[in-house]
Amino acid sequence: MSEKMPVGVFTSIGAGLGADVEGVLGLELRSVQVHVPPPEMRAPEKIEQTRKTFADAGIDISLLFCGFAGDSYASIQIVRETVGLCPPATRKERVEEMLGMADYAAALGVPAIGNHIGFVSEDHGSKAFADMVATAQTVCDHCADLGIRMHLETGQETADTLLAFIGAVDRPNLAVNFDPANMILYGSGEPIAALRKVGRHVKSVHCKDGKWSDQPGEVFGPETPLGEGDVGMENFVRTLTEIGYEGPLTIEREIGGEQQIRDIRQAVQLLESLKAKLLP
Ligand code: MG
Repeated sequence: MSEKMPVGVFTSIGAGLGADVEGVLGLELRSVQVHVPPPEMRAPEKIEQTRKTFADAGIDISLLFCGFAGDSYASIQIVRETVGLCPPATRKERVEEMLGMADYAAALGVPAIGNHIGFVSEDHGSKAFADMVATAQTVCDHCADLGIRMHLETGQETADTLLAFIGAVDRPNLAVNFDPANMILYGSGEPIAALRKVGRHVKSVHCKDGKWSDQPGEVFGPETPLGEGDVGMENFVRTLTEIGYEGPLTIEREIGGEQQIRDIRQAVQLLESLKAKLLP
């Protein structure tokens, strides 16, 4: 990729967490992350169709974001119980499912998968922490066989726990998808300080914004349009340049409808203006 920090957007085909692909194709961006489509869309005959949709639009897919049917982001407590690979009751089947998603990413020519793996235990000596280390190693090793990376979405744990976890998993293809808003929304720590701590592992980012909750860690803070929250986007982009990050700036806006596309257009303008100011 020649352009430094191409502005991109988190999108979905059919269903998922990202902005619908129909709206995104009109934005004339060159980079997307794609939320994993439903199983019927991952059939071999659909892969070429999807690859062609993006290739014809001149769009590079930088990452496939993995999620599961039972994931719910309704509240911090519900995230704790339902999201990612952490909940023990669904872990085994979800790991199998995720290995299949990695196969799909590789078949589509996408260099990385990403995931909110859930709440990793802040007790680094616990069995819960060790179990998640082994789980992440299983996923990373499968990805390594495919020649792709695995990116951990930030937010649910502190930067220190994320660093301890990455160190314990000890796999060169494990990296971080840094979402600065999540650090605020989940109350996990000041995002710029966290970015400096985990910076050497950051291989992708979400450009998202939000405000601190009045009960951090208990109740979600509100997400906002980019530039209207507490992240400080200029400081965020400047810090990315300082840690040597050159990958995509992938906008994530977790609302739907026409307002979502309007907010994404404004976010594109904001990021392009910050790039013009901050990039050499
Ligand atoms: Mg995110």
